Amino acid sequence: MNTITDQNHIMLRVGKKQIESQNFATLFFNHALPFKPGQFIMVWIPGMDEKPYTISYHSKENFAITIEAKGLFSTKAISLETGDLIGIRGPFGNGFNIKPDDKVAVVAGGCGMAPLATLMEQLSKSTTFIHGARSKEYILYPERFDIERLFCTDDGSFGYKGFVTDLLEKEITSGKHFDSVYTCGPEIMMYTVFCICEKYDIPCQVSLERYMRCGFGVCGACVCGKQVVCKDGPVFESSTLRAMKDFNAKALLKSGKDVDLSQYFSWRCK
Ligand SMILES: Cc1cc2nc3c(=O)[nH]c(=O)nc-3n(C[C@H](O)[C@H](O)[C@H](O)COP(=O)(O)OP(=O)(O)OC[C@H]3O[C@@H](n4cnc5c(N)ncnc54)[C@H](O)[C@@H]3O)c2cc1C
Repeated sequence: MNTITDQNHIMLRVGKKQIESQNFATLFFNHALPFKPGQFIMVWIPGMDEKPYTISYHSKENFAITIEAKGLFSTKAISLETGDLIGIRGPFGNGFNIKPDDKVAVVAGGCGMAPLATLMEQLSKSTTFIHGARSKEYILYPERFDIERLFCTDDGSFGYKGFVTDLLEKEITSGKHFDSVYTCGPEIMMYTVFCICEKYDIPCQVSLERYMRCGFGVCGACVCGKQVVCKDGPVFESSTLRAMKDFNAKALLKSGKDVDLSQYFSWRCK
């Protein structure tokens, strides 16, 4: 449950910056933040804007966010250096419902690895971990976890050539049993993961992305069907996804206009 203080900005200086690859950078902050994997914070760059980012590293003393450079805000964010000031609010959202004794598969696509990273640190070493990206340079944290990972890329530059969803279905049909599947990545990928899980009767948890403004369910910018993604999500379970008509279908632009998801995520095709 978020308290009222979560909605006020705390100003923090960047403690350390870690370049993950040509497209990703991680900013560390020396600040203790109560947090559950899958939750997010609103990050304010003074004079610019405020956007949601997940916590990608977390300890008692510090936390970090990992940013992929896409547009103006994220490009500015990855150019910040040690000592630069930002504001944060949160954490917000529900986070993953973690069942440590379950046999699980984690399926990560591209920048979707960031919210799954702290989750991986709470799961058993026998977790089936499938991680894909467009190409090798988009694979985030290739060395970070000591859990065996099945890598894949769309262009075959690293690991299996193909999609994470091919690997997930192969694991299931080869006889692996999963009590649940956790996923984050492009929505078309998460929808396919959801459909595979429905086919084999496996509960899944999906972390959704929508345009967010307030972060705590008041402004309505991030509604998806009957759900307010920032407050009811961003993690949704199969039972909710089944009834969510806008899942893999529609999203609201910054202006509030209701568009097809392909238009909302059109920057991905640039
Ligand atoms: C819960 C949540 C967690 C996120 N965590 C991460 C993360 O850990 N790392 C990361 O790199 N990105 C994360 N994002 C995406 C991030 O908030 C930005 O959307 C992204 O960095 C692009 O911003 P931009 O302004 O540079 O690009 P722009 O070119 O302005 O936008 C590119 C696209 O990003 C999306 N977007 C832009 N602004 C917002 C907004 N206020 N809320 C939601 N989506 C927006 C839209 O689809 C837009 O078309 C997360 C988004 C959500 C909703």
